[in-house]
Amino acid sequence: MTATELGLPAVRRAAPRDPARPADPRLVDSFGRVATDLRISLTDRCNLRCSYCMPAEGLDWMPRDEQLTDDELIRLITIAVRDLGVEELRFTGGEPLLRRGLEGLIAASAALEPRPDISLTTNGIGLARRAEALAAAGVNRLNVSMDTLQQERFATITRRDRLSDVLDGLAAARAAGLGPVKINSVLLRGVNDDEAVPLLRFALDHGYELRFIEQMPLDAQHGWERSEMITAGEVMEKLRESFALTPDPAERGGAPAERWLVDGGPAAVGVIASVTRPFCGACDRTRLTADGQVRSCLFARTETDLRAMLRGGSSDAEIADTWRHAMWGKLAGHGIDDPGFLQPDRPMSAIGG
Ligand code: SAM
Ligand code: SF4
Repeated sequence: MTATELGLPAVRRAAPRDPARPADPRLVDSFGRVATDLRISLTDRCNLRCSYCMPAEGLDWMPRDEQLTDDELIRLITIAVRDLGVEELRFTGGEPLLRRGLEGLIAASAALEPRPDISLTTNGIGLARRAEALAAAGVNRLNVSMDTLQQERFATITRRDRLSDVLDGLAAARAAGLGPVKINSVLLRGVNDDEAVPLLRFALDHGYELRFIEQMPLDAQHGWERSEMITAGEVMEKLRESFALTPDPAERGGAPAERWLVDGGPAAVGVIASVTRPFCGACDRTRLTADGQVRSCLFARTETDLRAMLRGGSSDAEIADTWRHAMWGKLAGHGIDDPGFLQPDRPMSAIGG
């Protein structure tokens, strides 16, 4: 899906300077936040079909020629790190392991000065074969998504029978030193909401750090219902039946997860309460889609087209200033609770989670 097909307004030339925007080279917004964490979607394609993310069938992939090439992507990442103060890069998708040349993109990113922190969010399919090469290329940390420990449930949720691949991928990531390896889990009512405790026990036993994510209205089929969502409060209640949880005293900063020490620590569990306890006030993210659109928020309804600038001959300075302009306009919050909230047309799998 392109911005044009989605009917999104796109900026094609260097944006005019808002006189209120300070002459700060970083990605500042009008609420005083500074974006230093760039989330890059490498592809909208995926080899799983998680029910809360994609429909069983019938989601068109982005045409190849609309995707940024490796050279285009590296140019934008370089601008972000060198000129805009981005300190952290997270590669995601879709499924980032499906992007050809992933290790090369990571190595090119790792060669930048100042060296950014590099992480990857993956469903873990094929990770067992790739973990060492990813670590050698420069990945510092890795998140693997896994919502259940039960094979049949995994096949129901993801519509593919691949749980053992994910478990192998997790183990390989840990062995490759990509730790602490984090596990992302989404609990779904009546499907896997009895697995909060087993998932945490599994993570503790294997040295992974588990994070529960509240389900958000970002599925391609627009089927999210608030009443169906398992809240962070419910997760905590279930966990407290089996574990003593105390707030992690470490500074949270812009991190989306509230961390809790388990049974006195040092092991911890994270809860990402994007819907019920939004953390927009501390958000430090900027997002780049696989087709070169900057989004200031997961829930943004506008995008800024850097691909058109790249392909239209704009200079690095023009692109950097357009990116600054896009982030200056970032809204205060995602507005899920506003009566007029509208889910973005672009689904999570094409934005990058
Ligand atoms: N395919 C990779 C994976 O699953 O890790 C990377 C992309 S996926 C979109 C990134 C994360 O977003 C995953 O942890 C997934 O569980 C989560 N996710 C997807 N759709 C979501 C939704 N509607 N609400 C909350 N989290 C979601
Ligand atoms: Fe694919 Fe990740 Fe979406 Fe699951 S959550 S369908 S693995 S992009």
